[in-house]
Amino acid sequence: MSHQLSWTDTHCHLNDDALGPMLADVLHRAKASHVDRIVCVAVDAETSRNSLNLLPPKISGTTPHVFFSAGIHPNYAHQEMPGDWESILQLLDDERIVALGETGLDQYWDDCTFDIQKANFARHFVASRDSGLPVIIHSRDCDEVMMQTLQDEYSEGELRGIMHSFTGSLEMAKACIDMGLYISFSGIVSYKKNGMLREVASKLPMDRILIETDAPYLSPEPVRATRPNEPALVVHTASTVAHARGMRLEDLADATTENALRIFQRMR
Ligand SMILES: [Zn+2]
Repeated sequence: MSHQLSWTDTHCHLNDDALGPMLADVLHRAKASHVDRIVCVAVDAETSRNSLNLLPPKISGTTPHVFFSAGIHPNYAHQEMPGDWESILQLLDDERIVALGETGLDQYWDDCTFDIQKANFARHFVASRDSGLPVIIHSRDCDEVMMQTLQDEYSEGELRGIMHSFTGSLEMAKACIDMGLYISFSGIVSYKKNGMLREVASKLPMDRILIETDAPYLSPEPVRATRPNEPALVVHTASTVAHARGMRLEDLADATTENALRIFQRMR
């Protein structure tokens, strides 16, 4: 019996200008590549609101099921307008919103001061505890302070969330998992120089691993030159992880989709 693959791209930006103009084609190509679920991730109040109206009207039935997040990215937190956070909180009642974020901490870019980033990150956890929704966490060049922040939040109770496009160490991944978090791998895990990250992907418990594109960014090998990245290409990241773990692709599809349905409870 042939096994029906079913993938979930847990993180992409369908609301990005690079994908917007060809969205119907992007969605059809995703479905043709067995990507049945997509989480369209917001980066500020505007994308949180607008994404819900993003899908082309009258699109045919052969597209993935698209879900959404609402939240403010650390690199955009300084651009917040009065009322933005309140409008995000109001969106959380919409059943199509399955997560908060993306949010987190970023010391690579310095558009936004670190104090503002931290305060912004912290209120997403408050909203997560109130709503039960998971937090999609962006972490760049700040492993130490990220882990300290997560430990502080964990002292308030088990965390619900996803370390998105994870690039840290095995030790960091395990510590995140111990606090309740899931680890999501993007195309970065497929890049030739990242043997260490493939090693991390090979050693984590299977029930905490997710896959994502982060499209339109981070096209995976062997299609790294393709621009923009899109959900249909998530299978390349998946096959890197499957290969690293010595797993069959269909088993990885089953497991990662099961994980997505568990952490994004509103997907079920
Ligand atoms: Zn992203």
